[in-house]
Amino acid sequence: VGGLPPLAGLPAPALSFEFFPPKTEALENQLWSCIRRLEPLAPRFVSVTYGAGGTTQARTHATVARIVKETSLTPAAHLTCVGASRGEVDDVARAYWEAGVRHIVALRGDPPAGAERYEPHAEGYAFAADLVAGLKKVAPFEISVAAYPEVHPTALSSDHDLDNLKRKIDAGATRAITQYFFDSDIFLRFLDRCLAAGITVPIVPGIMPVSNFTQMRKFSAMCGAGVPDWMGRLFEGLEDDVETRRMVAAVVAAEQVRLLQANGVDEFHFYTLNRSDLVYSIAHILGARPKSAG
Ligand code: FAD
Repeated sequence: VGGLPPLAGLPAPALSFEFFPPKTEALENQLWSCIRRLEPLAPRFVSVTYGAGGTTQARTHATVARIVKETSLTPAAHLTCVGASRGEVDDVARAYWEAGVRHIVALRGDPPAGAERYEPHAEGYAFAADLVAGLKKVAPFEISVAAYPEVHPTALSSDHDLDNLKRKIDAGATRAITQYFFDSDIFLRFLDRCLAAGITVPIVPGIMPVSNFTQMRKFSAMCGAGVPDWMGRLFEGLEDDVETRRMVAAVVAAEQVRLLQANGVDEFHFYTLNRSDLVYSIAHILGARPKSAG
């Protein structure tokens, strides 16, 4: 792992941002103020998630359609296989194409709340690789898929998981976006394994700015993302100090990106959680500037 490049010498990396579809009017307003704040940074694309078990289909579609109509941004709609037949999934994809959406983030999805393990729908796409192949038949979408530097929690093995990623690329995906991670070494080793397996599409690191460490640690245990001890020490004693936590979070994420940049990574996907301030300041540190300001 190389050292950190000097801040002043940083070329601004390519960025993309992830949002989730809002459930209430208040959350809708929060999302749109986030989108408006980040829009001038001219991200490569912005993506909108699909709720667990396919629960937010209408809200995801409405959010993506509004991004197409009202902003200069290029949206990517997340779409999952879980709980739907192939025909239903194809219809959703067709509606996206008709609404002007050209980029899909194709995922298997997680089992619905209460279900112990994932069961494919009897007439559905079983795994994300099948979904990618199906989407390619619907329309010539640009397709991104998920990748797991620390291995998907239910994968049979890390080799099996890597084969699965390769199958998704072979089926037509042209980018992988990773689950978030905090140990850059793990990501760089994963990149090496991808290359050795013949995966040559961009593997874009997913960056999670951590403003609520306690919540993030709980969530990370479920999705298989390791939380290094040094992070615990950094956030120690800040449980009731939101402001300092946010400043620490900005430094941690900016350093993570710079370390990866020093190792040749030049594109990053930010999990915004529909909050712009932290992501905006991290992007600024990294050299991103509003387009109108040159
Ligand atoms: P797959 O690539 O299908 O893999 C799932 C698991 O099955 C892996 O363990 C894989 O190794 C294994 N597998 C694959 N094929 C086979 C096979 N033929 N036989 C046996 N095992 C197999 N979830 C949502 O609900 N909505 C979202 O919007 C969303 N967005 C996400 C965005 C990103 C960038 C990431 C990283 C994850 C996202 N997720 C989302 C979570 C994702 O749905 C879960 O992680 C899910 O458990 C796996 O999805 P996948 O697309 O990686 O599945």
